[in-house]
Formats: sequence, C-alpha cells, structure tokens
Amino acid sequence: MTEELFREDATLPQCDAGITAVDAQGVQLDRTVFYPQGGGQAGDRGELVLGDGRVLQIADTRKGELPGTIVHIPAAGQEALLAALAPGQRVRARIDMARRQRHMRFHTATHLLCALVPHPVDGCSITADYARLDFHMNDPLDKAALTSGIARLVAEAHPVRHRWISEEELDANPGLVRSMSVQPPRGLGRVRVLEIDGVDLQPCGGTHVANSAEVGAVVVTKIEKKSAMTRRVVLGFADAV
Ligand SMILES: [Zn+2]
Repeated sequence: MTEELFREDATLPQCDAGITAVDAQGVQLDRTVFYPQGGGQAGDRGELVLGDGRVLQIADTRKGELPGTIVHIPAAGQEALLAALAPGQRVRARIDMARRQRHMRFHTATHLLCALVPHPVDGCSITADYARLDFHMNDPLDKAALTSGIARLVAEAHPVRHRWISEEELDANPGLVRSMSVQPPRGLGRVRVLEIDGVDLQPCGGTHVANSAEVGAVVVTKIEKKSAMTRRVVLGFADAV
C-alpha cells in the first residue's frame, strides 16, 4: 500500500519517502504526492531525488497491479539509475507542480460544468492543456452560455472541499445520494466526495483547487456531437486560446 498524501492535500509539491519496490515498470514508494492516472485525470510527472543527489525523472504515474499501489514510471533512458535503486532507500518525491496546478484547475472546472449540464457523464479526460466531458444527452449545448456560466461560478468564489462518507451514511441518506450529480461507487467501504459549496457534490478521487475562484479563466473551446446521445464539451484556459 502506498500512502496517498495527495488525497488529503492536493497542494503538497513534495514529500520524503522510502522505496518499497523497484522493477522495469517503475518505482513504488511507501507514501507519495504523485497522483496516479484515474478518474479521467492524467498522472503526475516529476522527479525522485536520491540521497546522493542523483535525480530520476518520472514521466507518468499509474495505479499498480495490486490494489492501493502506485507506480512512478521513469522517463526513457534512465535504466542504469533505475537498476541502482533498491527497497529501503530514501528519496524525495517532487511533482511538476505547475502541470498539476493545471490539472487541479481543469478538474474543478469539469465539476462546475457538471452543475451547469444536468445530464449523466459518459466520459472524462483531464490533461494540462485541455479537459473534456462527454454528456449522455441529445439536446444542443451553447458554447457561449456554458463559458459565461463557468465564469459566473468562478467569480462567485465557492469553497471546494472533500470528505469521506461511509456506505452506511450513504444508505441512511438517500437524499444525499440523489443530490449527487454522479452516483457513488459501492463496495469500497467509504467514498471520497468532492463538494463545491452550493454548486456540486459528487464522488471523486481527484485533485482540486480549494476555491472555484482558483479555476481562473476557463472557456469552452469546442462542443461536438460524438454520437446520437453524446455531447462532448472541451475546456481550455482562456490565455492559451
Ligand atoms: Zn472529479
């Protein structure tokens, strides 16, 4: 098991950790700030700094084969350094925080979009350059109206927070489950939910900004009809358009 520090504090840029496993696929740590690809959000990049100052560049982060494990995947061409690593060694794990910050802004923006488009979500992808959400619906969507809707929710500066809810609590509160824009998974014991105060509540394991104001200037760059019952909305940062 890897302790997932990013679930409690998405703003942590680095941590000290011990290596628990190394193989050709990558490095596992006892704790990490690296978010593994999941829930539509891309995995983190960054570096592992060894005790002697050598640096292993990490190109991606994925969930490992065993539940609760996280694999830090090295960038190409570092086989010699990887081979020198062994369980028990200490490293400093440091993410590319500028890139992560873009994931966080986009991830919170997709939840704002969920609040504006009350239809089930079929798919989601969150990267540093764009985010997209596929809605199960056939009504047309208006690009300008969605962009101004997001801008309004950003300007209103709603606090964003996560909490953990047990399945017993979910079962005892059907109203809570009904109020979620995405239905919670079952069988995990507890579910992490992300609440944008007064705007949106849904199960989510991703990393988010602490207030909708931090999303900044996000615009709808494209709306596509992917199929009879799928409308894809693509988001971009206004300063990159
Ligand atoms: Zn989410």
